[in-house]
Amino acid sequence: MNMGMTNVPDLKSIANELRKELVVVHAAANAPHIGSDLSCIDILITLYFKVLGKNDHFILSKGHAALALYAVLHKKGIISADDYGSIGKDGSLLAEHPLHGMKGVEVATGSLGHGLSIAAGMALVNKRDNKSGTTYVLLGDGECQEGSIFEAMNFAVRERLNHLVAIVDSNRWQGLDRTLLNAETVNKEFSAAGWTVNEIDGHNFDEIAAALKSNSDAPTLIIANTILGKGIKSMEDKLEWHYRSPSGNSVKDFISEIS
Ligand SMILES: [Mg+2]
Repeated sequence: MNMGMTNVPDLKSIANELRKELVVVHAAANAPHIGSDLSCIDILITLYFKVLGKNDHFILSKGHAALALYAVLHKKGIISADDYGSIGKDGSLLAEHPLHGMKGVEVATGSLGHGLSIAAGMALVNKRDNKSGTTYVLLGDGECQEGSIFEAMNFAVRERLNHLVAIVDSNRWQGLDRTLLNAETVNKEFSAAGWTVNEIDGHNFDEIAAALKSNSDAPTLIIANTILGKGIKSMEDKLEWHYRSPSGNSVKDFISEIS
């Protein structure tokens, strides 16, 4: 597939395919976090099929959405079918959170609150070395409460990291409750610090692509409004799907809801 020619219907069909796949993979591996995978999969697909170039970096700070990342990396041909098929099995390189050294993964993540600091460091190195390329990082809205996020937020402004783009998967849930900080608060904090902040529909491919490609003199925060479990109506915005995994007859029922 020619990346530059990928259009919106293609992304939608990839999204449907990967959503169905994720139901099957989660059930087979008895893996949690399908709700989170489905809230950020459209962002990951847009990044990998429309935006990321060879000089760019991507960090999945919300490491618990690893299976969504693996699905995209597999679809892109970056990880092998054998590795992809090993999820949930003993000795698999594709763990419940991304591990450093796995193909397509630059940083081990999952301990929340660190991705923005790492991304800021990578963006700073690029800037000092006069390298082109943008560093992208996907944050959960829950982890935005962490103190380290605010340290990195201010650091990025001081260092004028205009090739740093943070995306917040704003599904309004964290763990077993609503997020401590809502999107409005996150927007205010980052805007006040000097970031360029855009708020978009995190399931609209046109909006996602436009926001990811927009230029700014400041670091950019994209607040992507998303829905936990998006694409499977009976899962959407239901807290239990942060940790539950589909099983038994529910697998084909969930798949039949995806269109
Ligand atoms: Mg969340």
